[in-house]
Amino acid sequence: MSCYTSALELFSIGIGPSSSHTVGPMRAAQQFAQLLADRNELKKAAELRVYLYGSLGATGIGHGTPQAILAGLAGYDPETVDPSIPGNLAEQIASTGTLKVLGLHSVTMTPQSMILQPRIVQPRHSNAMKIEALDAFGKVFHEEMYYSIGGGFVETETQLAKAPGDDVTPAAPATVLPYPYQFGHELLAICAAENLSISDVAWANECALRPASEVTAGLDAIWNAMRECVDAGLQTGGILPGVLQARRRAAAIAARLERDAAERETSLEWLQAFAIAVNEENAAGGRVVTAPTNGAAGIIPAVMHYFFRFIPQDQRVKDANIHKFLLVAAAIGSLYKGNASISGAEAGCQGEVGSACSMAAGAMCEVLGGTPEQVENAAEIAMEHNLGLTCDPVAGLVQLPCIERNAIAAGKAVASARMALYGDGRHMVSLDTVIETMRQTGRDMSSKYKETSEGGLAVNVIEC
Ligand code: SF4
Repeated sequence: MSCYTSALELFSIGIGPSSSHTVGPMRAAQQFAQLLADRNELKKAAELRVYLYGSLGATGIGHGTPQAILAGLAGYDPETVDPSIPGNLAEQIASTGTLKVLGLHSVTMTPQSMILQPRIVQPRHSNAMKIEALDAFGKVFHEEMYYSIGGGFVETETQLAKAPGDDVTPAAPATVLPYPYQFGHELLAICAAENLSISDVAWANECALRPASEVTAGLDAIWNAMRECVDAGLQTGGILPGVLQARRRAAAIAARLERDAAERETSLEWLQAFAIAVNEENAAGGRVVTAPTNGAAGIIPAVMHYFFRFIPQDQRVKDANIHKFLLVAAAIGSLYKGNASISGAEAGCQGEVGSACSMAAGAMCEVLGGTPEQVENAAEIAMEHNLGLTCDPVAGLVQLPCIERNAIAAGKAVASARMALYGDGRHMVSLDTVIETMRQTGRDMSSKYKETSEGGLAVNVIEC
């Protein structure tokens, strides 16, 4: 059994503000539209209706879920869609009452076609949505339930019925991996037996899934998207969308840091600015990389920018590069996705920001020369100090506390990596133990604190 999820699936390029509430629903809607087309039933559809349950119903409006679904139904893909299209489609259905599915066939859709049911929580996952296709007589002739399980991954009821208990996400490889592992201790055992680093193990697994040239091209594309996102965020001021009318800060911080650099060390503030830049882009619905989710998208790019910009060559391992960084992060992220959750709606923010922090810490540790045991230690330290972190986005927007939370977690990741490097890899709490603790804590956490905006800051901060 293996929990390994390809880096090219775990890091996917999409649009903000949420992987589970924007990217996943867009993918689900696109799948539904394609299914109708594949069954030659597109023309039979006169109307489409969408039910948003649980967390999708509670915070979907703030997360842009209805617009994302319209874009998916229209045939757009999160990786390539122009970020302005979802909003334009929402305006279009409000004025015309119709949507062209896959750009081929017009059906009735109005803003009322999106039915929010936050009080109905489906047993499989809090992020559930059902799409119904109705014929000209108003009769439902096809329906499908989708679960957006975090990080943009989607599962259907049908897939679950076919393969109960299996990982049925699009990322699930049928390929036999050279180094399968389910738990951290198995990963460490492989490294010890084969004399490999964690990035070596991940690289070998990736190359079993697709040709090496595709792996490197995919990792390069991910890094380029991360870089473009940081650059855009550092150059854009103004106000973020939504009722909070929050000011964007990354550009102003960057300008100030450029001025201060001559007088003092500013690398840690830059680390925070990089994270804020990404999360402001995400909050504005811009193009981001799920890492492993959109809400936590700033941490890994921030730590990577910090490392490659500020860490001197003599402190890095000789072959430190972006591939190695992303591969270690994916190897660790797979443990969270496979054994706990990377979804805020399922595990609270510890599942999103905590997982990203842990992935970044482990990756930073390896490129600083850490052994597999030290890498595992760094990843463990980072999660240990995110345990219990709740998800309580104010007004259902991925802004407050999300943007600053990424900046703080990026700092924690760097601190965890450095702390682990001062040890020899031996430590009391294993990464497996802390992942299981996170899973249990998420399971026991009140639904108020799992992306429903019914508790925490979400109910104590007065919206302007
Ligand atoms: S609080 Fe954390 S989990 Fe919740 S939306 Fe914000 S970043 Fe995501």
